[in-house]
Amino acid sequence: MLFALGGALAALAERSTTTKPPQPVERVEEVAFRRDGKLEELTGRLVIEASDGGVVLQNDEGIQWTIEGSNIVSRQQLDKPFTPITSEALAERLVAEMPGGFRIHQTPHYVVCYNTSREYAQWTSSLLERLYKAFTNYWQHQGFELHEPEFPLAVMVFADRALYNAASRDDLPGGTGGIIGFYSLRSNRVNMFDLTGTEAVRGPGSRRGSTREINQMLSQPAAVPLVATIVHEATHQIAFNCGLQTRFADIPLWLCEGMAVYFEAPDLASTRGWRGIGRVNYPRLETFQQNLDHWQSSGQLAGMLANDDRFRDPRRAVDAYADAWALNYYLIKYQPDKYTAYLKMLAAKPPFAEDSPQTRLEEFRAHFGELGQLQGDFLKQMSQAE
Ligand SMILES: [Zn+2]
Repeated sequence: MLFALGGALAALAERSTTTKPPQPVERVEEVAFRRDGKLEELTGRLVIEASDGGVVLQNDEGIQWTIEGSNIVSRQQLDKPFTPITSEALAERLVAEMPGGFRIHQTPHYVVCYNTSREYAQWTSSLLERLYKAFTNYWQHQGFELHEPEFPLAVMVFADRALYNAASRDDLPGGTGGIIGFYSLRSNRVNMFDLTGTEAVRGPGSRRGSTREINQMLSQPAAVPLVATIVHEATHQIAFNCGLQTRFADIPLWLCEGMAVYFEAPDLASTRGWRGIGRVNYPRLETFQQNLDHWQSSGQLAGMLANDDRFRDPRRAVDAYADAWALNYYLIKYQPDKYTAYLKMLAAKPPFAEDSPQTRLEEFRAHFGELGQLQGDFLKQMSQAE
């Protein structure tokens, strides 16, 4: 998940003091503003307004735009209600946005826009629909009421790196580097490229054709972490669209990321179900257990709960993700009702309001009790997990 707000958005979030309460009928707002000397216009619903007049506007497919107050020329409320785009209209828009050669594959929840093979697009959307069903069933079963996504879920699948990089520029201005796919909080889309085109997966001369061949290629050990990344990113998209989490709300990263890792075990063997949920994630468990000596300090748990820095630091992120997986795994397994209650509290958090480390710790303690005892039991269980 790309969680960097970007300079402008982060600054806006800091200055904003009020979030608009949801209105009975949301009206469309039209904002004219200057960008790079040109006059532009956007329409959407207002997510937030900063004290200096800057706004975050959300369009009919869920993209969020940040417009600085000093750039706004005019604003007016239009006499029409905000209506999310239909899948059909989104399909047309995505194709029009891309260079030639892109096509669409639609499923009940997804609009997949691709310029790779139709088989790969079908393979991807089938994986995502199965994940969607498994994920939403899982939380309903745990006592969390989810809703259908407000917007059709857009997924872009690129045949090659060059177009993938170009289409990801707004989110990753420095290039995609080693990132094979990501969910963008800003655009609400998942961007990825066709994994069967990567050298790690594609043997010399091997074809990428039928669903069976795709499954075969992506079941190789080298492909498993790549598919896990796609599943991980798709999990974020579902969580932020079904009411489990709110985009740009202050959801602690140990929770948001650890939960995505909890779901990331791919299940390519089955065509209908999804058997990966809740299994021990062995690569993450191994990393966690190798780092057990970090946990000798009693402040380790409090540090992870209060502060997201480790997740944003490329040198420490792998260890942080493993710790986060272990904590989510432990809480879901041993304290499922408290975990669900904690999730409900987080789900109610408004966007663009940052909690202090103190608040985070208090909210955690209010649900799970004193940290010392919890850390002791957590380490006992997870150092023996296998
Ligand atoms: Zn993530």
